[in-house]
Amino acid sequence: MIEGKKVTATSQLTKLFIGLFVGLLVVVNLIFIVAASRQIYQYAADQAEDITEAVVKDWTPQRDWSSLLNAYVARQDDDAIEITTATKRHYHSPKAPKIFGRIHHRRFAIKDLQFTKKGIYYLRQQHFSRNRVRVAINVDDLVKLVGLLLVTMILASFIMVLIAIPLIRRLARRWTVPLTTISQEVSTIDPTSKNLQTVTVPDSPVEIHKVAFSFNDLLTRQHQVIQREKEFVANASHELKTPLAGILGHVNLIKRHGQDHPEVIGQSLPYIDREAQRMKRMINDLLTLEGHYSQEAPTIVDLPPLIKEEVSSLKGAYHQHFNCDLPITCRYRITSNDFRSLVHNLVENAAKYSPADSPIEVSLQKATDHLVLTVADQGSGITPANREKIFDRFYREDESHASSIPGSGIGLAIVKAIIEKYHGTIKVGPNQPCGTIFTVTLPVEK
Ligand code: ADP
Repeated sequence: MIEGKKVTATSQLTKLFIGLFVGLLVVVNLIFIVAASRQIYQYAADQAEDITEAVVKDWTPQRDWSSLLNAYVARQDDDAIEITTATKRHYHSPKAPKIFGRIHHRRFAIKDLQFTKKGIYYLRQQHFSRNRVRVAINVDDLVKLVGLLLVTMILASFIMVLIAIPLIRRLARRWTVPLTTISQEVSTIDPTSKNLQTVTVPDSPVEIHKVAFSFNDLLTRQHQVIQREKEFVANASHELKTPLAGILGHVNLIKRHGQDHPEVIGQSLPYIDREAQRMKRMINDLLTLEGHYSQEAPTIVDLPPLIKEEVSSLKGAYHQHFNCDLPITCRYRITSNDFRSLVHNLVENAAKYSPADSPIEVSLQKATDHLVLTVADQGSGITPANREKIFDRFYREDESHASSIPGSGIGLAIVKAIIEKYHGTIKVGPNQPCGTIFTVTLPVEK
């Protein structure tokens, strides 16, 4: 593909405005020509009419009109008048034969205007009492005057265009300054930078203000995503490094002392097993979190049986008393994996963070346009300041319980991602007399 010559906004705008300006001047000059021509024509027509009317009014056959006629056209040297009577007598001003001769051999005529070799004449003829009067008015001087004015105007227009070009170019350049600034700033943005880089948002013009604003918005979101991804990778490696270091330590211990002291194998194996299980859980959680968008398409599923299944699978591992308040049936469009994962994480958390002899309430209610799932426990509770943070990946409210309560801080991040996928909301609040209530609201499709 041949790449076309790149045109800058400044040159485009300059060309456009100069084009408009020249066009405007041409139109003004054309209007002048038309108006001036009309004026000349009207002037000559009025003059010719005045003369013929005066002759008609003054007419008496007895007079010697040859000497009189010159007075009617005396004002203009090259005007002519001629009277032909019913008895074929001719009276005319001195130059009339010559002028009427020219008109006879004219080049062309537009209406009553006769274009001869030696000038332009307005010709009028009128019949009265079987006589005829002919008048020719020379308009050369007027045409010359208008021509002179036209040349002056064209010259003035040309000078105006010459002056306007640099001014228009400066104006166009000033108009495109915000664009140039943005383009320069964009080229200096380093996508790998730790700090958020944005472009200057000009106040005007509104269009560029909007573009810069939207671009900054995009940059901010992009930056947040990149930072989150970086944090995620850092956290994930950190979290995996700890159990791995423990496993390697015990493997080394077995390698060095296993033969001489075989009892270390028995001591190390449960540790290796526990840490390997922890890593497996974490990797599964990470895979769920990162891959849940690509799972199967949602179908209509009945939710209460899924809740019951998840709760009973947890009953084996935890000793709390689980109370379920569920409708007989509640059909909803969701993938069963997503819903299972949602319930499992919330109910397991309730069990993990509450005493073994406390009750856990799980309820599901369906309204016309949404359904509400709540999971309430009587455990340690979550401080108000942390109620947002617990949904961040790897966030654990109290790092000190990290060793006593198994977990990786990913469960609620998975819950949040699933809820967002179905355009729902999740709220965390305190339970009475103690503990936490998670309330999930999912919209029902109309
Ligand atoms: P994990 O349980 O693996 O640590 P989660 O993402 O499921 O990770 O939870 C994040 C943190 O939120 C937990 O570490 C815990 O501090 C807090 N949390 C979650 N659920 C509850 C609950 N029901 N009661 C008290 N704290 C909770």
